[in-house]
Amino acid sequence: MDVHGHLIAGRWVTAGDPIENRNPSDIDDVVGLYARGGTGQVAEAVATARAAFPAWSRTTPQQRFDLLDAVGTELLARKQELGRLLAREEGKTLAEGIGETARAGQIFKFFAGEALRLGGESLPSVRPNIQVRISREPLGVVGLITPWNFPIAIPAWKIAPALAFGNCIVFKPAELAPGCAWALTDILHRAGAPAGVVNLVMGKGSVIGQALLDNPEVDAVSFTGSIDTGRVVARTCAGRLAKFQLEMGGKNPLVVLDDADLDTAVECAINGAFYSTGQRCTASSRLIVQAGIHDAFVDAMAARMKALVVDDALKEGTQIGPVVDQAQLDKDLAYIDGARADGGELVAGGERLNRDKNGYYLSPALFVSTTNSMRLNREEVFGPVAGVIKVADYDEALGVANDTAFGLSAGCCTRSHKHAAHFQANSQAGMVMINLPTAGVDYHVPFGGRKGSSYGPREQGRYAAEFYTTVKTAYDLPL
Ligand code: NAD
Repeated sequence: MDVHGHLIAGRWVTAGDPIENRNPSDIDDVVGLYARGGTGQVAEAVATARAAFPAWSRTTPQQRFDLLDAVGTELLARKQELGRLLAREEGKTLAEGIGETARAGQIFKFFAGEALRLGGESLPSVRPNIQVRISREPLGVVGLITPWNFPIAIPAWKIAPALAFGNCIVFKPAELAPGCAWALTDILHRAGAPAGVVNLVMGKGSVIGQALLDNPEVDAVSFTGSIDTGRVVARTCAGRLAKFQLEMGGKNPLVVLDDADLDTAVECAINGAFYSTGQRCTASSRLIVQAGIHDAFVDAMAARMKALVVDDALKEGTQIGPVVDQAQLDKDLAYIDGARADGGELVAGGERLNRDKNGYYLSPALFVSTTNSMRLNREEVFGPVAGVIKVADYDEALGVANDTAFGLSAGCCTRSHKHAAHFQANSQAGMVMINLPTAGVDYHVPFGGRKGSSYGPREQGRYAAEFYTTVKTAYDLPL
């Protein structure tokens, strides 16, 4: 098998023992071999990005539009093939993989347009005859560190704005899903990204990621991943005064009020808690249900969960793919055991499953009789495991929803305009959904949260310019 290399200074480089990328639906299936870099590759990639920056930052918006638009076109044209690669290496279903690839294409198209639309302001000075102009300039070299669970969409929503606004990048994807990262980099390279503007270095986070954080020539770091790694990014970047942005975990509440439409609530909960195998930062892992609808909701959930098809991500009809790897599966099972020990009652799923192929299959698990103080409801599991918390009324539901260290997404199923409006206004999450799953967002609007879920400016939409540019205020006295 050929080794897929890093992209450094416009050339593919293979170095070190490659990473074996395995299919979590069928662990005997090796998706590909991917180079595992070291600190030397990071230093080279950063230096080449630095050297490419002056010319790239002076390109016209049209040149940047053309590059990003061409990348978007290829992603959309190849969404079946790349969606299949995504499902094969990460384990979400083929339909989810294709959808995510299409979204990556749309993100590139959106930011192609943003390259043209980046504006500034012109104001009269408070002093006579002086003009003040406020403009946005690129940052320089940006390090992009991404997780495995959205292996094409998250790189897209970092790379596209970074390039649109004139930055050069060093991209470090997650070890578990390098295939999509490599394919995306290959598209950027063939679409004409000049040498050094786009660099890819694959390998271990503690080596490659850390080297990016430590390198004084990296002007900014955009990170998505767990809260523990986020803290490392924050400490290191703050220590050398580099700009940084963090998108981290969630413990997202879905409130179901007595007046909710039961079918809508169940669909929101099934989708939000279990689709993509629950491996979404926006997953609804806390289901906060009012007493009057509680039993009907739990019965309907249990019935609906029995019908969910858990199998090979590439198989037609599969609704829930495997867990991503053995370590995550062990973690999911430990949370299931822990929830039982803490007094939770498992009403559906939670079993290790055998299928035709040897993969990491787990039936989605639903606990009832849980409280918001249980570990299950405090920590991010990042698997298909949800707890139901019974509450007396709306006020208690809102209080429980907000009683968390996280604040990414929050949902409420209700027919009451009063409660919907109050929840939207008083939820302490960055994204609020009424009668919709907590997961599943648009690509043209900001994405991000509060508290332990996010730090720094929002990603996506036109708000992405806040992170990927720096503001200049220019004063001019015409003589
Ligand atoms: P992770 O923190 O283990 O890894 C994320 C990235 O950081 C990987 O590329 C990893 O190699 C790298 N890394 C690890 N150690 C590093 C270090 N010392 N220095 C620099 N980089 C390092 O997270 P993961 O397991 O890949 O992803 C799952 C997590 O991501 C979950 O917590 C999930 O909620 C979160 N996530 C958040 C969002 C969001 O937008 N809020 C989206 C998707 C996933």
